[in-house]
Amino acid sequence: MIVRVSLEIALRKEFDYLIPAGLAGQIEVGNRVQVPFRSRKIYGTVTALAEESAHPGLKPVLKVIGAQTLVTPKVLKLARWIAEYYCCAPEIALKSVLPEAVRKKKETEEGWKKQLYIRALPVTGEFPKLSKRQQEVWNIIEERREILLTELVELAETTAATVRRLEDLGLVEITSQISERDPYAREHILPTQPLPLNPTQAAALEKIKVAMKRSEDGGLKMEAGKRGPASSPQPPSSTFLLHGVTGSGKTEIYLQALAHALEQGQGAIVLVPEISLTPQTVERFKARFSSGKLQTLVAVLHSHLSAGERHDEWHKIRQGRARIVIGARSAIFAPVEPLGLIVVDEEHEHTYKQEEAPRYHARDVAIMRGQMENAVVVLGSATPSLESYYNCKKGKYTLLELPERVDNQKMPHVRVVDMRQAARGEKGVPIFSPQLKEAITQRLERGEQTILFLNRRGYSTALQCPKCGYVAQCPNCSLALTYHRPEQKLRCHICGFMDAVPAACPNVKCKNPAIRYAGLGTQKVEETLAKLFPNARVRRMDADTMKRKDDYRKTLGDFRVGKTDILVGTQMIAKGLHFPNVTLVGIIYADLALHQPDFRAGERTFQLLTQVAGRAGRGDVEGEVFVQAFTPFHPAIQYARRHDFTGFYEQEIEFREQLKYPPVSRVALLTLRGRNEDKVKFSAEHLKRELEKNLGTAPASGAVVSAPADDTELFGEGAKQDTRGACAPPKKSFYDLIICGPAPAPLLRAETFYRYQIMLRTRAMSKLSQTLAKIIETLSLPEDVTLSVDIDPVNLG
Ligand code: ADP
Ligand code: ZN
Repeated sequence: MIVRVSLEIALRKEFDYLIPAGLAGQIEVGNRVQVPFRSRKIYGTVTALAEESAHPGLKPVLKVIGAQTLVTPKVLKLARWIAEYYCCAPEIALKSVLPEAVRKKKETEEGWKKQLYIRALPVTGEFPKLSKRQQEVWNIIEERREILLTELVELAETTAATVRRLEDLGLVEITSQISERDPYAREHILPTQPLPLNPTQAAALEKIKVAMKRSEDGGLKMEAGKRGPASSPQPPSSTFLLHGVTGSGKTEIYLQALAHALEQGQGAIVLVPEISLTPQTVERFKARFSSGKLQTLVAVLHSHLSAGERHDEWHKIRQGRARIVIGARSAIFAPVEPLGLIVVDEEHEHTYKQEEAPRYHARDVAIMRGQMENAVVVLGSATPSLESYYNCKKGKYTLLELPERVDNQKMPHVRVVDMRQAARGEKGVPIFSPQLKEAITQRLERGEQTILFLNRRGYSTALQCPKCGYVAQCPNCSLALTYHRPEQKLRCHICGFMDAVPAACPNVKCKNPAIRYAGLGTQKVEETLAKLFPNARVRRMDADTMKRKDDYRKTLGDFRVGKTDILVGTQMIAKGLHFPNVTLVGIIYADLALHQPDFRAGERTFQLLTQVAGRAGRGDVEGEVFVQAFTPFHPAIQYARRHDFTGFYEQEIEFREQLKYPPVSRVALLTLRGRNEDKVKFSAEHLKRELEKNLGTAPASGAVVSAPADDTELFGEGAKQDTRGACAPPKKSFYDLIICGPAPAPLLRAETFYRYQIMLRTRAMSKLSQTLAKIIETLSLPEDVTLSVDIDPVNLG
């Protein structure tokens, strides 16, 4: 027998090895193995078994690692799809499906933590004579029957030697056993019961349950069987978009759908953005499913766990003991089997996209996995992504709406303040408009709390000389340095470069001592608050103040119990926080996100404003929101003011349609990086010519549309469309392809690298990815220029 192995070094190739007689019957697809490669020993994953190989003189597999296959065939299939669709080496995709803590374990260390346990043995014959100390220790052991050695030593104030003596006397047995590391062992979580749902919640849950039933009956396969060949399955509408304002009871629906999955003997995965994976969130899930004898039912996977904890949580899932997984992005690869349900909360969040290879989007992977494994997928958000909402409109997903808050609380009242007006009369632009200042004063008087939001940290955004125009720039990036007052330093927010603040303009021809700071950051907001409201207790929450693991929890804890009056922060405070005493939210500079060079700038502004506004009025008092803006009539701001998602969607989709931007098309962003700008530029132009040459001769549109399980079927519309693209019109044509660029990246230089980009847009992304992979394979670039491919990018910078 022969195995095909994907090696852990990126070679975009798989290699054949012999199964030696000693390992016969022990190797399956998904096993990790050690194999000889050139003169080294390398780890890899078995991707297939075969009878014969085209290669002569195969070497044998050296070792099989672990008793259980780590990569299940289903996850392996998913990894293959990721490699293909996201245009990356299969080894890289394969690597990302296992947590490092699981992957890195060598055969000798099993990864589990072993601890010594003491167990009382039945006494046969005469009871030995014990000293007073020994007797005391024995009494404890006898009472407990079994106890951890470390615990016993502490409890009895004794030593391991004393315990060994009892072992010699035949009274006890000392064994080494696995002790599971449970990151939540110390939390005392009170169990909760399902709440009686209101009619809209109940209707939504019912639809999800019906779909789960259908999937369980073999849904996709049966339906496909009825309709035709299994190779072209009709996507069933077992993907739901749960669109509900914050506080409308989405989480309660997830919880009850999860319970339903468990009742059906199925497991589930819940994805939440890393930032909302707070102890409170985890607690809500554990409280429903993990109390009492069901201790291990919920596994948690996120980056704050220790390697050991992650190892144990993962194996709990693999062994089928944990049936529900809650985690950030990579939890989508958890080996849950059988998988009945995937929930993606806050599905619009950009953190679901991995910003390094494999550059997958966990929401889209979730949908693909759901389809592969007949699992129902529920995407939830108060501000859905245009992509997901568009797919509802096209009938790909089923829309479920929860238009009202559970407790019938009103949505907060949002007022937009025209800052151009506020700037008149005063000297320059104030940080706080008179309206917002007045509102804060009221809250302080009434003992209510305020949240102020500005999505920019630091004190000032630039150090500028008013005389010669000099701006302090990062030497590594094409970005102005931000002034940080606490440490009196200029810092780059891209690469972390730090510099002292000059006493005078560094321009040798100028040397003006009256150098000034321009722009605004959270530090300055905090400082100005202290001047305006000297008695207010103000706290700031941004990446600079939240350095340690516990800072976040502590700051929010203080705010919750009312030790803080005003919380100032960046997007960190925009999400999911729930404080009944917050009755005012101020958005200091709402246009900030609008100025990004990104077609999603409007969408992001709308989402951010809606999310931040949702922090106000979660208690009995109606909330009030002040949005300060220099472009108060921008649609993103106006629709957010009216809490009108569909209105925003309608006008935004028109713009996307005109310019053929997602969700109307899909984007592949090719970025070339290098230290020599000319070389980068030249390489980009070379790549563009190659693309035009190769994509022009690709198959005609018909072939693309009929491609089986193409993403156009899954995510978008499969129909052919003519284009009025703004950039290069389709050539002989790869379907509806638009090629833009090369152009300097919005941030031309980052961390000393120059970057040039080419943007491709098409509906048939699967097809394009495959063709791109081929082009890249034969592309020759200068040694110091690298190319990265980002399919469906969320960050165009
Ligand atoms: P969302 O996830 O949409 O923000 P949640 O599920 O967190 O909403 O619900 C908001 C609050 O309302 C929570 O405190 C939750 O316990 C409560 N809640 C949800 N559904 C119900 C219900 N049917 N009856 C009573 N309270 C509910
Ligand atoms: Zn920099």
